[in-house]
Amino acid sequence: MRDGTPRPFLFGTNFKMHQTPAESMGFYRELATASLVPEGCRLFMIPPFTSLAAVTDLARRDPAGIWIGAQNMHWAERGAYTGEISAAMLVALGVDLVLLGHAERRGLFHETDADLNKKVLAALSAGLRVLLCVGETAEERAFGVGSETVARQVKIALDGIEPAAIPMLQVAYEPVWSIGEGGVPAHPEDVAPLAALIRANLLDRLGRTGATVPVLYGGSVNPDNAGTFASVEGIDGLFVGRAAWTVEGYRETLKAALTGLKSPRDM
Ligand code: PEP
Repeated sequence: MRDGTPRPFLFGTNFKMHQTPAESMGFYRELATASLVPEGCRLFMIPPFTSLAAVTDLARRDPAGIWIGAQNMHWAERGAYTGEISAAMLVALGVDLVLLGHAERRGLFHETDADLNKKVLAALSAGLRVLLCVGETAEERAFGVGSETVARQVKIALDGIEPAAIPMLQVAYEPVWSIGEGGVPAHPEDVAPLAALIRANLLDRLGRTGATVPVLYGGSVNPDNAGTFASVEGIDGLFVGRAAWTVEGYRETLKAALTGLKSPRDM
């Protein structure tokens, strides 16, 4: 329970273009066997496409409640889109969640807000959970338009969502200047206003049920700062990159995050 609205505490990682299927399976097995996850907390891992079949197969046979996510998908149901993957293909594998709008997809692969709107709607209508990433670049921040950028990203991506699909949605605030190599962690006091802005836009777009959508923070999170970010007002989870790419790092960062939550009521 955070801000008076019951929302789970979410924690997970995106492996980007790392891991063979064997490596992803090893990670899942180790995480699943040793994870003592408190009530109200949900773990996820997002390996590359090539690992999904192997990991979802393991998860199906040995369900530990860890969501398995894909890093991207196309909005079309099928068609002449060489190299692309549809929502139905992910569902058929038993994938739980799809990451959409990661800064690398937006920046390196030129995904627009309108593209992401089509992807969000397609994923939700296929029954996939969506983890939508939003966040301003260093340049937008320097020009003082970070809030406008994030509001625009949320509003466009979530346009036209059916109320019944809202429980499948989660949003991660990931300032682009804070993620990956060379990224610097945001100041916790800068994160709270953006979390509030995202919440306001969720309410505006989705009505009162927008209060139930978890908002995560991501960007240079590690065991030293995870507790602080987990306790930021309006933050319902952490989306971690490099620090969680080993099972030990994943667990240490999760442990720090959970310690940062003041009480079970925070979850
Ligand atoms: C990311 O790239 O989405 C991310 C959160 O990475 P890191 O934690 O490594 O900054």
